[in-house]
Amino acid sequence: KFITLEGIDGAGKSTHLGWLENIFRSRGKTVVVTREPGGTPLGEALRELLLDDNGTMHAETEALLMFAARREHLDKVILPALARGDWVISDRFTDASFAYQGGGRGLAMQKLDSLEQWVQGEFQPDLTFYFDVTVELGRQRISVIKPADRFEKEHDAFFRKVRDAYLERAHKFPRRISIIDANQPLEEVKKSLDKIISTIC
Ligand code: C5P
Repeated sequence: KFITLEGIDGAGKSTHLGWLENIFRSRGKTVVVTREPGGTPLGEALRELLLDDNGTMHAETEALLMFAARREHLDKVILPALARGDWVISDRFTDASFAYQGGGRGLAMQKLDSLEQWVQGEFQPDLTFYFDVTVELGRQRISVIKPADRFEKEHDAFFRKVRDAYLERAHKFPRRISIIDANQPLEEVKKSLDKIISTIC
Protein backbone atom coordinates (compact mmCIF):
# COMPACT_ATOMS: atom_id res chain seq x y z
CA LYS A 1 0.00 0.00 0.00
CA PHE A 2 1.02 3.57 -0.67
CA ILE A 3 0.17 5.97 2.14
CA THR A 4 0.80 9.69 2.08
CA LEU A 5 0.78 12.28 4.85
CA GLU A 6 -0.21 15.85 4.20
CA GLY A 7 -0.77 19.03 6.16
CA ILE A 8 0.43 22.59 6.50
CA ASP A 9 3.71 23.18 8.30
CA GLY A 10 3.32 22.47 11.99
CA ALA A 11 0.48 19.97 11.54
CA GLY A 12 2.60 17.26 13.17
CA LYS A 13 3.15 15.00 10.18
CA SER A 14 6.60 13.84 11.27
CA THR A 15 5.42 12.80 14.72
CA HIS A 16 2.56 10.79 13.32
CA LEU A 17 4.71 9.32 10.59
CA GLY A 18 6.96 7.60 13.13
CA TRP A 19 3.96 6.29 14.91
CA LEU A 20 2.34 4.90 11.73
CA GLU A 21 5.62 3.28 10.74
CA ASN A 22 5.79 1.46 14.08
CA ILE A 23 2.22 0.23 13.83
CA PHE A 24 2.67 -1.13 10.31
CA ARG A 25 5.95 -2.82 11.29
CA SER A 26 4.35 -4.38 14.34
CA ARG A 27 1.76 -5.84 12.00
CA GLY A 28 4.45 -7.53 9.93
CA LYS A 29 4.71 -5.09 7.01
CA THR A 30 7.99 -4.11 5.41
CA VAL A 31 7.80 -0.34 5.46
CA VAL A 32 9.66 2.18 3.32
CA VAL A 33 9.54 5.71 4.70
CA THR A 34 10.26 8.56 2.33
CA ARG A 35 9.50 12.24 1.77
CA GLU A 36 8.85 14.98 -0.75
CA PRO A 37 10.43 17.01 -1.99
CA GLY A 38 13.25 14.51 -1.69
CA GLY A 39 13.40 10.75 -1.38
CA THR A 40 16.24 10.27 -3.91
CA PRO A 41 19.69 11.89 -4.17
CA LEU A 42 18.43 14.08 -7.03
CA GLY A 43 15.22 14.84 -5.13
CA GLU A 44 17.14 15.82 -2.01
CA ALA A 45 19.37 18.13 -4.08
CA LEU A 46 16.24 19.73 -5.56
CA ARG A 47 14.82 20.02 -2.04
CA GLU A 48 17.84 22.04 -0.99
CA LEU A 49 17.50 24.32 -3.99
CA LEU A 50 13.80 24.81 -3.27
CA LEU A 51 14.17 25.41 0.46
CA ASP A 52 17.24 27.65 0.20
CA ASP A 53 15.91 29.86 -2.57
CA ASN A 54 15.82 33.52 -1.60
CA GLY A 55 12.25 33.98 -2.74
CA THR A 56 12.96 34.89 -6.36
CA MET A 57 12.09 31.52 -7.88
CA HIS A 58 9.13 31.67 -10.27
CA ALA A 59 6.10 29.74 -9.00
CA GLU A 60 6.06 27.60 -12.16
CA THR A 61 9.74 26.76 -11.75
CA GLU A 62 8.94 25.68 -8.20
CA ALA A 63 6.08 23.47 -9.41
CA LEU A 64 8.16 21.96 -12.21
CA LEU A 65 11.01 21.12 -9.83
CA MET A 66 8.56 19.51 -7.40
CA PHE A 67 7.19 17.33 -10.19
CA ALA A 68 10.67 16.56 -11.53
CA ALA A 69 11.67 15.34 -8.07
CA ARG A 70 8.42 13.34 -7.93
CA ARG A 71 9.07 11.63 -11.25
CA GLU A 72 12.42 10.44 -9.95
CA HIS A 73 10.91 9.47 -6.60
CA LEU A 74 8.28 7.30 -8.27
CA ASP A 75 10.80 5.64 -10.56
CA LYS A 76 13.55 4.98 -8.02
CA VAL A 77 11.73 4.49 -4.73
CA ILE A 78 7.94 4.30 -4.67
CA LEU A 79 7.09 2.04 -7.60
CA PRO A 80 9.91 -0.50 -7.00
CA ALA A 81 8.96 -0.76 -3.31
CA LEU A 82 5.29 -1.32 -4.13
CA ALA A 83 6.30 -3.91 -6.75
CA ARG A 84 8.18 -5.81 -3.99
CA GLY A 85 5.04 -5.75 -1.86
CA ASP A 86 6.43 -3.24 0.66
CA TRP A 87 4.31 -0.55 2.24
CA VAL A 88 5.40 2.98 1.43
CA ILE A 89 4.72 5.99 3.65
CA SER A 90 5.55 9.32 2.06
CA ASP A 91 5.72 12.57 4.00
CA ARG A 92 3.91 14.66 1.33
CA PHE A 93 3.10 13.81 -2.28
CA THR A 94 1.11 15.41 -5.11
CA ASP A 95 -1.63 16.88 -2.88
CA ALA A 96 1.12 19.16 -1.51
CA SER A 97 1.69 20.57 -4.99
CA PHE A 98 -2.00 21.37 -5.33
CA ALA A 99 -2.01 22.94 -1.86
CA TYR A 100 1.29 24.89 -1.90
CA GLN A 101 1.94 25.69 -5.56
CA GLY A 102 -1.77 25.77 -6.47
CA GLY A 103 -3.43 27.23 -3.38
CA GLY A 104 -0.46 29.06 -1.85
CA ARG A 105 1.26 30.39 -4.94
CA GLY A 106 -1.91 30.66 -7.02
CA LEU A 107 -0.92 28.47 -9.97
CA ALA A 108 -3.83 27.29 -12.12
CA MET A 109 -4.99 23.89 -10.88
CA GLN A 110 -5.37 22.74 -14.52
CA LYS A 111 -1.63 23.18 -15.01
CA LEU A 112 -0.99 21.00 -11.99
CA ASP A 113 -3.54 18.48 -13.28
CA SER A 114 -1.52 18.22 -16.51
CA LEU A 115 1.75 17.78 -14.65
CA GLU A 116 0.15 15.15 -12.45
CA GLN A 117 -1.14 13.30 -15.51
CA TRP A 118 2.25 13.52 -17.15
CA VAL A 119 4.26 12.35 -14.17
CA GLN A 120 1.99 9.73 -12.64
CA GLY A 121 -0.90 8.99 -15.04
CA GLU A 122 -3.73 7.50 -12.99
CA PHE A 123 -1.43 6.44 -10.13
CA GLN A 124 -2.66 7.68 -6.73
CA PRO A 125 -1.94 6.88 -3.08
CA ASP A 126 -4.15 4.17 -1.60
CA LEU A 127 -4.71 6.33 1.43
CA THR A 128 -3.85 9.90 2.39
CA PHE A 129 -3.97 11.32 5.89
CA TYR A 130 -4.51 15.04 5.82
CA PHE A 131 -3.61 16.51 9.22
CA ASP A 132 -5.73 19.60 9.54
CA VAL A 133 -4.53 22.31 11.87
CA THR A 134 -5.29 26.03 12.14
CA VAL A 135 -2.62 28.35 10.78
CA GLU A 136 -2.17 29.83 14.24
CA LEU A 137 -1.55 26.51 15.97
CA GLY A 138 0.68 25.29 13.13
CA ARG A 139 2.85 28.37 13.43
CA GLN A 140 3.08 28.01 17.18
CA ARG A 141 4.28 24.43 16.79
CA ILE A 142 6.89 25.23 14.12
CA SER A 143 8.45 27.98 16.20
CA VAL A 144 9.26 25.59 19.04
CA ILE A 145 10.76 22.84 16.86
CA LYS A 146 13.33 24.41 14.52
CA PRO A 147 14.30 27.56 12.64
CA ALA A 148 11.82 28.25 9.83
CA ASP A 149 12.71 27.33 6.22
CA ARG A 150 11.79 29.49 3.24
CA PHE A 151 8.22 28.20 3.07
CA GLU A 152 7.67 28.41 6.80
CA LYS A 153 8.60 32.11 6.72
CA GLU A 154 5.55 32.80 4.56
CA HIS A 155 2.75 34.94 5.97
CA ASP A 156 -0.36 33.52 7.57
CA ALA A 157 -2.39 34.48 4.49
CA PHE A 158 -0.25 32.09 2.45
CA PHE A 159 -0.89 29.20 4.86
CA ARG A 160 -4.60 29.96 4.94
CA LYS A 161 -4.68 29.49 1.17
CA VAL A 162 -2.66 26.29 1.47
CA ARG A 163 -5.01 24.94 4.13
CA ASP A 164 -8.10 25.86 2.09
CA ALA A 165 -6.66 24.08 -0.93
CA TYR A 166 -5.94 20.97 1.15
CA LEU A 167 -9.49 20.95 2.49
CA GLU A 168 -10.83 21.37 -1.02
CA ARG A 169 -8.78 18.36 -2.18
CA ALA A 170 -9.97 16.33 0.80
CA HIS A 171 -13.58 17.08 -0.08
CA LYS A 172 -12.97 16.29 -3.73
CA PHE A 173 -11.44 12.88 -2.94
CA PRO A 174 -13.20 11.78 0.25
CA ARG A 175 -12.55 8.07 -0.28
CA ARG A 176 -8.79 8.49 -0.57
CA ILE A 177 -8.17 11.40 1.80
CA SER A 178 -9.00 11.14 5.51
CA ILE A 179 -9.12 14.44 7.35
CA ILE A 180 -7.55 14.13 10.79
CA ASP A 181 -8.22 16.94 13.23
CA ALA A 182 -4.66 17.69 14.28
CA ASN A 183 -5.67 20.54 16.59
CA GLN A 184 -6.47 17.86 19.15
CA PRO A 185 -3.95 16.62 21.70
CA LEU A 186 -1.57 13.96 20.39
CA GLU A 187 -3.36 11.09 22.12
CA GLU A 188 -6.64 11.98 20.43
CA VAL A 189 -4.97 12.22 17.03
CA LYS A 190 -3.50 8.74 17.60
CA LYS A 191 -6.95 7.38 18.39
CA SER A 192 -8.35 8.80 15.14
CA LEU A 193 -5.49 7.24 13.19
CA ASP A 194 -5.94 3.91 14.94
CA LYS A 195 -9.56 3.75 13.87
CA ILE A 196 -8.68 4.28 10.23
CA ILE A 197 -5.72 1.90 10.30
CA SER A 198 -7.82 -0.91 11.68
CA THR A 199 -9.80 -0.79 8.42
CA ILE A 200 -6.69 -1.46 6.29
CA CYS A 201 -4.51 -3.88 8.29
O1 C5P B 1 7.12 18.63 4.90
P1 C5P B 1 8.35 19.47 5.08
O2 C5P B 1 8.19 20.48 6.17
O3 C5P B 1 9.60 18.67 5.18
O4 C5P B 1 8.47 20.27 3.69
C1 C5P B 1 9.50 21.17 3.45
C2 C5P B 1 8.96 22.50 2.97
O5 C5P B 1 8.59 22.46 1.59
C3 C5P B 1 7.74 22.88 3.76
O6 C5P B 1 7.96 24.13 4.36
C4 C5P B 1 6.62 22.91 2.76
O7 C5P B 1 5.82 23.98 3.06
C5 C5P B 1 7.32 23.05 1.41
N1 C5P B 1 6.65 22.38 0.29
C6 C5P B 1 6.06 23.11 -0.73
N2 C5P B 1 5.45 22.47 -1.77
C7 C5P B 1 5.42 21.12 -1.84
C8 C5P B 1 6.01 20.36 -0.81
C9 C5P B 1 6.63 21.02 0.25
O8 C5P B 1 6.06 24.32 -0.69
N3 C5P B 1 4.84 20.54 -2.91
